[in-house]
Amino acid sequence: MADNTFMVEIVTPEEILFRDEVQFLVAPGTEGELGILRNHAPLVGALKIGVLRYKDQNGTQKKMAVSGGFMEVVDNVARVLAETAEHGEDIDILRAKAARERAEKRLQARDETINALRAEMALKRAIARLKAAGVE
Ligand code: ATP
Repeated sequence: MADNTFMVEIVTPEEILFRDEVQFLVAPGTEGELGILRNHAPLVGALKIGVLRYKDQNGTQKKMAVSGGFMEVVDNVARVLAETAEHGEDIDILRAKAARERAEKRLQARDETINALRAEMALKRAIARLKAAGVE
């Protein structure tokens, strides 16, 4: 382990999506961004829908979309438990754009049979995916 890195694990109910040493991590905390470097103090925080960024061992910055969950940091291991998570390069951009459009239409319709909160969450997930994919 290089002396400026720490371990990050990104886990969803379906898979271990990422497990590697990184130089830094910034996660979308519900109270603001949570920036983590090596030797960070122990922490448990809730995450919102958003973009998670990290710098890998080679110094390359990477982005992932996460849709809420928790992060725990202890003994130079940051563990993210997310409902869903995708690497920026794996995101299906057309699918995310379609999801965004669907959610926007549902929110504009002001139809009482539509669950607005659900549409808002879908919209946030789609926007986070597009940002993580570097589209906007
Ligand atoms: P959609 O309406 O397109 O299904 P969604 O926001 O309802 O979007 P989720 O329920 O958050 O989708 O995710 C379901 C599964 O599909 C998860 O495994 C998630 O990682 C994956 N997923 C969702 N959207 C995308 C995307 N644009 N590219 C790649 N994987 C995606």
